[in-house]
Amino acid sequence: MTDEPVEISPREMWDSVLGELQLQVPKPSYETWLKGTTGVSVLDGALVVRTPNAFVSEMLDTRMYSLISRCLEGITGEPMEIRFEVGGEVRASAGITPRINGPGDAGTARMSLDHDGARSRPSYRRVGLNPRYRFENFIVGSSNHLAHAASVAVSENPGFVYNPLVIYSGVGLGKTHLMHAIGHSVKETGHDVLYTTTEEFTNEYIRAIREGTTEEFRDRYRSADVLLLDDIQFIIGKEQTQEGFFHTFNALHMAGKQIVITCDRPVSELSLLQDRVSSRLAGGLVVDIQIPDLETRLAILRSKAEQIDREFPNKVLEFIAGRVQRNVRELEGCLNIVAAYAGLGHKSLNGNAAADVDLDLVEQALEDSLKESARRVSEEDVLSAVARYFSIDKSTLKGKKRDRTTAQARHVSMYLLREEVQLPLATIGRVMGGRDHTTVIHGCRRIERQLEADTRLRRDLMNIRESFAA
Ligand code: ADP
Ligand code: MG
Repeated sequence: MTDEPVEISPREMWDSVLGELQLQVPKPSYETWLKGTTGVSVLDGALVVRTPNAFVSEMLDTRMYSLISRCLEGITGEPMEIRFEVGGEVRASAGITPRINGPGDAGTARMSLDHDGARSRPSYRRVGLNPRYRFENFIVGSSNHLAHAASVAVSENPGFVYNPLVIYSGVGLGKTHLMHAIGHSVKETGHDVLYTTTEEFTNEYIRAIREGTTEEFRDRYRSADVLLLDDIQFIIGKEQTQEGFFHTFNALHMAGKQIVITCDRPVSELSLLQDRVSSRLAGGLVVDIQIPDLETRLAILRSKAEQIDREFPNKVLEFIAGRVQRNVRELEGCLNIVAAYAGLGHKSLNGNAAADVDLDLVEQALEDSLKESARRVSEEDVLSAVARYFSIDKSTLKGKKRDRTTAQARHVSMYLLREEVQLPLATIGRVMGGRDHTTVIHGCRRIERQLEADTRLRRDLMNIRESFAA
């Protein structure tokens, strides 16, 4: 970090960001959202960027903010707020609402930019709750209902039911959303909430040590009724931070304060946290979020379409939900791209918006995104992954052996062939060695039922699904 003031003009600053973004985002997205934007000024320490219309502003603000802010920070060396301005005026809401846009994102609030060399008090970033991440906007399905129920319980009775509550899942499946929802809810009941990302927690802690302000650091954290710490996996390999976390955690926990933690892998796999922290984590409740099934993905898409006030024909939503399976954030991203490409009108302005949108056009618009995110899982992927995971042969999977492991592996295969490959039941029966479709239904139901309560099976499924990508 440098003590020199930043000397480039807003236009140059933004042009550099654009240069960087051009390398990082798919071309259609760049052309749609970023081309035609200009850096116009720095106001109250925020870079003001002019965009062609409100929809572009909205998109950049809600969907690309963290990426853009990281690029900007790379250029200025300091986090800096960005405001998107339509035409001439700064949008009223920009800059007032604190935003957090995704995992590890901490660059949304402005930090003190004074470079006069005076030793300033440690300046904490305002890390706020995303106003859109509320329980009302969270679609509940079989993949996430346990995590949702636990979050609601905690928010109704912070400090008493599950403490700590740990939510884990792969990326983009709603951990941060649920965590912010808890934050909003307990705030409304008058609790003092502190939300931060583990990355930011680490930065603050390291800074506090360097500046000799660990007392203030502790006081700040220990005064919270509810501590929300996002993405704890960031702590891996950081001994000092673990130490800081351990003390903070202990103090809060002993005082009966609620702690909520998210993690992108099972807590038991955070080997480094093991002895001290992880045994305490395990003392609370650990819930996971699985990959949403087709029905839930569709419901999420409908709700997001509603939120951006756009109307999409069903076949388009079904197409997207069918192609993007394992990440809700990407699901949303695709929706936004399609909205722009297909030129769908605002629902309120345009009653029956483009009911006849061409699926080819949609596919074309999504080409880049789909290439990366939605490699379709094949029948072979499922069978190989399951066989590998249970250490049995593929032929055994399809055969007649009926010991417990084999039967379980077979049912898991059926379930995944339905969920991931979306094969019809009769086809699954054929693939699984000529079984009847009722046998397949039975197998799938069995797994569904077990998933309700069996955390081990949930974990197995998560691991198997992850191994598809490998
Ligand atoms: P994670 O923290 O697990 O990486 P996020 O909470 O950031 O994921 O979620 C990614 C995006 O997906 C967010 O925009 C969030 O609102 C959305 N999302 C995830 N799950 C749901 C859900 N069940 N209902 C509505 N939106 C969801
Ligand atoms: Mg997150």
